[in-house]
Amino acid sequence: MTKTGTVAVLPGDGIGPEVTEQALRVIDKLNAEFSAGLTWQSAPVGGAAYDLHGHPLPPDTLALARSADAILLGAVGGPKWENITREHRPERALLALRSELELFANLRPAFLFPELAAASTLKPEVVSGLDIMIVRELTGGIYFGQPRGLTTDDHGVRFGFNTMVYREPEIRRIAHTAFRIARQRNKRVCSVDKANVMEVSELWREIVTDVGSEYPDVGLSHMYIDNACMQLVRAPKQFDVIVTTNLFGDILSDAASMLTGSIGMLPSASLDADNKGMYEPVHGSAPDIAGQDIANPLATILSVGMMLRTTFDNTKLANKVENAVREVLADGLRTGDIANHGEPIVGTREMGDAVVAAIG
Ligand code: NAD
Repeated sequence: MTKTGTVAVLPGDGIGPEVTEQALRVIDKLNAEFSAGLTWQSAPVGGAAYDLHGHPLPPDTLALARSADAILLGAVGGPKWENITREHRPERALLALRSELELFANLRPAFLFPELAAASTLKPEVVSGLDIMIVRELTGGIYFGQPRGLTTDDHGVRFGFNTMVYREPEIRRIAHTAFRIARQRNKRVCSVDKANVMEVSELWREIVTDVGSEYPDVGLSHMYIDNACMQLVRAPKQFDVIVTTNLFGDILSDAASMLTGSIGMLPSASLDADNKGMYEPVHGSAPDIAGQDIANPLATILSVGMMLRTTFDNTKLANKVENAVREVLADGLRTGDIANHGEPIVGTREMGDAVVAAIG
């Protein structure tokens, strides 16, 4: 059943407000013409919030994010805030939102619209029709495991160490997320680990297999991370949903995003156990092009599609958004980042106009 609800909108810095504005026009159209029932309210985050309130995630912004059913975030950061203390840097707001709201599952689709096959560095026949969802565990693993540190041994030799640790419940909940997502797609999960070398991966594999038995309609396979990297560039279309740890997912999702040619096209989500999510484009605040009306708003618009599908269970409206994007691409509209040499280029607002008009 589809749900209605509230969206906390956090535009942020650089191109964040420009691309978010276009995504909000899409939400407004869905509300006005298709009774989407999404109420939104915006608040400052990142550098913009620091300038206004002295903190990248002010209490009112966190409270709004907590109370909303979903969050739509533009991007944060920029050279203006590079020299302030670490705890006040714009990027801290993202880490705080993830941990405060327990957003442990990061969803990064790598989807290639056929019209943009030439934008990939791989041959069009290898990537055309690519549609992968990488489900990365986001709040555990080696980035957070204890003990960690830099020290010196008894012989005066310096050494550094980190610990990859996963507890069974952490593996279970990310595995459930992956299987649930696979059910909405092509019903295949590939779990990526390093179980031939690491004990933590042995546990990972055992628990994912156990959770998989609750989803008999979804096929489960396992792959070592080194092979997964190779397969991702050799034959990426073999994958549907990939589920993996924080570290392996970090690497795989960046590699997968490049298969699609432009980060201006890629949405992402970070979910909690109840599918409440923070949706945002994969790209950053792009200070080099901010304020010029040339940023590609499609990743943020597609983030709205992902939000409708995942948090609001509204496949019909999610399809409308994605089909509208497909239509404007088929009509030849291109922002600078996805244009081939010599192709005419449209600006951020003009691209937004076209998507809004194509939603029908
Ligand atoms: P970036 O993604 O902002 O930009 C990388 C390159 O891609 C730039 O040349 C930029 O112009 C281009 N680009 C990015 N998005 C685009 C779009 N929508 N349309 C057209 N071109 C686009 O990465 P960066 O330059 O490494 O980082 C800039 C700032 O963003 C830094 O302060 C960084 O910390 C921050 N950042 C924020 C997030 C986030 O908010 N989630 C993510 C990554 C980086």
